[in-house]
Amino acid sequence: MIEELFKKLVKQTTPNGFEFLVYDCIPNAIIDDFGNRYVIVGDGPHKHLFTCHLDTYPLLNISEQITIIADGDIIRTDGRTLLGADDKAGMTVMLSMIQAGVPGIYGFFLAEEIGLLGSEFAAGDRTWEELMKDVGAVISFDRRGTSSVITHQGGKRTCSIKYADQICNAFHMHDLNLKPDKNGSSTDSLSFFRANKQLQCTNISVGYGNAHSYEEFQDMAYLKKLCNAVIHMEWPLP
Ligand SMILES: [Zn+2]
Repeated sequence: MIEELFKKLVKQTTPNGFEFLVYDCIPNAIIDDFGNRYVIVGDGPHKHLFTCHLDTYPLLNISEQITIIADGDIIRTDGRTLLGADDKAGMTVMLSMIQAGVPGIYGFFLAEEIGLLGSEFAAGDRTWEELMKDVGAVISFDRRGTSSVITHQGGKRTCSIKYADQICNAFHMHDLNLKPDKNGSSTDSLSFFRANKQLQCTNISVGYGNAHSYEEFQDMAYLKKLCNAVIHMEWPLP
């Protein structure tokens, strides 16, 4: 199920301008004035905004067909394209959560790879401000590897150690060994932190590696475990 969904999402690269190729995969999406999609699950008040981005790294500025090579639990391409697991892995996680009915607001942003443009728009937009009035944590599913809950982006703290520890503990209950990590660079959660320093803004490993290159790969075993955990765990309140 998870593997089929992931493979469907990575069928073509979707650099900025081609995100429309995956719009159909997002159920009941609402569209903002930038073109970002969001989905609301549950009645609220919503304390969590979960995010991923729909664009892949623009190594070539065209959408390409991908040939997938599976090597045990590792999926990569034939070396002629990006895989685009950054951030189709995050998209897989969010679609699994929506399908399972995990309450929250789910933001699917455009143009992350060319400067966080979609989330920057949202962070300064009135509609999003109203939407997020009860949100205390912005959690981006967009980080390499299998062990990080990011506390710092670009060297600046964006999430308290206390909240990162709570998330790690919730994952431990589902057999995932995640740890607070200070070495984040920048992803969509940072846009929201810049706009509101009260928010806990983190990103979480989704199991890709060598992103932004033709050697990119995805650890499917980790992604399946992660999808199971995020559906069943108690998300700590910020
Ligand atoms: Zn990314």
